[in-house]
Amino acid sequence: VPYHAAETYQARLLQAGFSVVVCEQVGIPGESKGPLAREVTRILTPGTVTDDAFVEASDDLWIVAISQDAFTLSACFGSVGRGELVIHDRLDDTGLRALLSRMRPRECLTQSSPPAGFEGRIIETPAWHFTRDTLSRELERTYGVSDPSGLGLADVSETGLGATGALLTYLYDTQRTALVHFERPRIERSTHEVILDHTTQKNLELLSTLRGEKKHSLWWVLDRTATAMGSRELSRWITAPSCDNDAVRARQRTIHALIESGALSDLKGLLGQIGDIERIVARIGLGSAKPRDLTRLRDSLHAIPFVIERLTQTGDNNLLECAQRLNALPKTANLLTEALFEEPSLVISAGGVIRDGYDPELDRLRHFSVDANQMLLTMETEERERSGLSGLKLGYNRVHGYYFELTKAQLAQAEVPPHFQRRQTLKNAERFTTPELKTFEDQALSAESQALKRERLLYEALFPPLIDVISELKTLSQNLARLDALTSLATVARESHWIAPELTDTVEIQIEAGRHPVIERAHSTPFVPNDTHLTPEHSLALITGPNMGGKSTYMRQTALIVLLARIGSFVPAKAARIGPVDRIFTRIGASDDLAGGRSTFMVEMTETAAILAEATNHSLVLMDEVGRGTSTFDGLALAWASAERLSECGALTLFATHYFELTSLSESLESVFNIHLTAEVTGESIVFLHRVAEGPTSRSYGLHV
Ligand code: ADP
Repeated sequence: VPYHAAETYQARLLQAGFSVVVCEQVGIPGESKGPLAREVTRILTPGTVTDDAFVEASDDLWIVAISQDAFTLSACFGSVGRGELVIHDRLDDTGLRALLSRMRPRECLTQSSPPAGFEGRIIETPAWHFTRDTLSRELERTYGVSDPSGLGLADVSETGLGATGALLTYLYDTQRTALVHFERPRIERSTHEVILDHTTQKNLELLSTLRGEKKHSLWWVLDRTATAMGSRELSRWITAPSCDNDAVRARQRTIHALIESGALSDLKGLLGQIGDIERIVARIGLGSAKPRDLTRLRDSLHAIPFVIERLTQTGDNNLLECAQRLNALPKTANLLTEALFEEPSLVISAGGVIRDGYDPELDRLRHFSVDANQMLLTMETEERERSGLSGLKLGYNRVHGYYFELTKAQLAQAEVPPHFQRRQTLKNAERFTTPELKTFEDQALSAESQALKRERLLYEALFPPLIDVISELKTLSQNLARLDALTSLATVARESHWIAPELTDTVEIQIEAGRHPVIERAHSTPFVPNDTHLTPEHSLALITGPNMGGKSTYMRQTALIVLLARIGSFVPAKAARIGPVDRIFTRIGASDDLAGGRSTFMVEMTETAAILAEATNHSLVLMDEVGRGTSTFDGLALAWASAERLSECGALTLFATHYFELTSLSESLESVFNIHLTAEVTGESIVFLHRVAEGPTSRSYGLHV
C-alpha cells in the first residue's frame, strides 16, 4: 500500500479484528548494491496496539492468556498501554466469565477451546508457551530475574505461571522489543482464599507425599468419595481453604447433618451408582460421547431421584437444601431410556445401540432378518420337494453367504437341479446358490447396512437435545460433586471421631488434644494428642526438644487442623477454635533444587526471605530448624533474626529450633514463649514421649538419638 495511506488501512484491518505485519525497507538507497534490505518492523494486533491512530484514548486495551489443567484455571491479563500484567490464579468458570466481561480483552491466547462468550480474537497458542521454562526465559528477558519466586510469584499455580509465560512471549513477539515499561506481574486474588503456596502444599503433603505418593497424603485420609467428580472436588477444596466463615460453616452444618441423619451409608451407596457426569458432559460437548457414556448418564440420572428421596427423608433443612439443588432432568433421562438398549454395544458402528420400538423404520429393517428366517425355512422345504433331494440343507457362512449344501454321497445318487450354481467345493460336499437365494441374500445384507446407517442417524440425533441441557448437566455434576465431597468428610469425621471446630472472627488458633490426621490413621501405635495455643499476645512458640521427639509432627498437625477447619471439615481434636488465616507458610525440611541451580541452603534462605517479607498478623507460619546449612553462628544469627521479625509482624508462628540460645528470646519479646517435646532417658536409652510441655527443653539428647 502507499506508505502515506498505510495508517488508514491498518486501522481498518485492526478494526476488523485482524493483525497486521508491517514490512518496510530498512536499507538506505544508494548505499547498498542490489535490492534494498527489507524487514518486519512491527506487528500490530487488536489487543496490543497503542498508537493514537488505532485506539481511542479512553480505552484500555487488554489481552488475556488462559491456561487450564484438571484442577486449576488461571488467567493472566496484560495491557501494553498500561504496562501491566495481572495474574488471576485459581479461578472458576464463573470467575473467569466475570473477569472477561469486566476487562473485555481484545485477544485471547489459549491452547484449548475459547472461553464461552468471548468475542475477540482467538490466538491458538502452542502448549509449550504455557510452561515454566518459557516463563523463566521471558522473566529474564523482561525483568532480569528468571526465578518466579524472585518476583513474588512463588504461590502462583503452574497454570497461572504458564499463562503469564505465554502472554509475555506473545507480547515480546508482537512488540519485538524489550517490555521495559512493564511493571512486575501483580497477583489479584479472591479475598476469601487462604493462600497456600506451592512449597506449603508440598510440605504439608496435601495431595501427595514428599515422595510423590498419594498414600499417606491428607487427601488419602479424606477421600471416601463415591464418584470421580466428588474426589476431584475434594482435591480442589484441600488446596483452596477459605476465610469466609459463613461459607465454611455452611459446609460444617451439612456434614453435621449428614452424620446425625444416619443416611451416610445409604447415600454413599446411591452416589456410587452415579457416573462421571462432568466428563461425560465434556464428551457430549465435543461430540465424542460413546454409547456407554450416554447409558452411564442415563443410569446416573435415574439414580438421582433416590438420592433426593433419601436426603428428603432425613427432614433436615440443610440436607433438604442439598436435595433441592439436584435436578434429575427427567426428560433427558426418559429420552435416553427410550432410545438406548440397557447394555448397548461399545461403538455405534457395530449397531445394537438403539432400542427396539424407538424408531419404526429401524425396527422394520431389523425385523427383516427375523422374517427372513421363516422365508429361508420355506425356501429349503420348497427346494427339497422340487428336486426330490431330501438331504438338501441350507446354510450360511461369513465368506460365502447363504448356500444349499449337498454331500458327495447325495450327489452320486442324484442330478443337480439346473438352476443350482456351484459356489464352493469342499472335501465331502458341494455348495450351491440359486437366483432366488441370491436375491434374498442381497436384500438381507442391504437391510443390515441400512439398519446400521439408520441407527447412527438416530444416535447422532440424541446429541442436540443433550447439548441443550448442558448447563443444567454441569450444575448437576457440580452439586453432586459437592454432596459427595461433604459425604466423604462426614464419613471420615464419624469414623475417626473428629469434632466440628469453632470458627471465630478473632485471630487465634486454640486446639485441645489435637492429633495428626495422617499419622493417626497410618500407624497402629496410639498417637499422643497435644494442645496448641497461638494468639496475637502469644504468637510465636519456640519449640525445642530432641530429634525424633515429634516437633515436625506437632507443627504439621497444627497446620493440617487449621486447614481442615478452613475447608469446612471436622478436625482430629477434642476441641478447637480457629480464627481467620490469610496464608499458611512452611519452611520445613531440606530439599535441594540442584537442577534449578540452588543448593539446600539457598532454597532454605529463599523460602525464609519470602516468608519474612510476606507474612502478616493473620498468617500461620511453620519454621523448622532455620539456619542449619551454614556455620553455627551464621545459622544462629539467621534463626534469631527470623524469629524476631516474625514476632514483630505478629504472625502465628511455630518455630522449631536446635539453637538453645533462642529460648532466651521469650525474656525480651512478649509474644514469644517456649514449649518443648518431652523425652526420658533411662541409662543409655531414650524414650520419646511426644508430649508437648511448657518451657524450653533441658538438654538436646543429640548423642542419645
Ligand atoms: P522431630 O521433628 O522432632 O525430629 P518428628 O516429628 O519427625 O520428630 O517425629 C518423629 C516420629 O515420632 C514420627 O515419625 C512419628 O511417627 C512419631 N511421633 C511424633 N509425634 C507423635 C505423637 N504425638 N504421637 C505418636 N507418635 C508421634
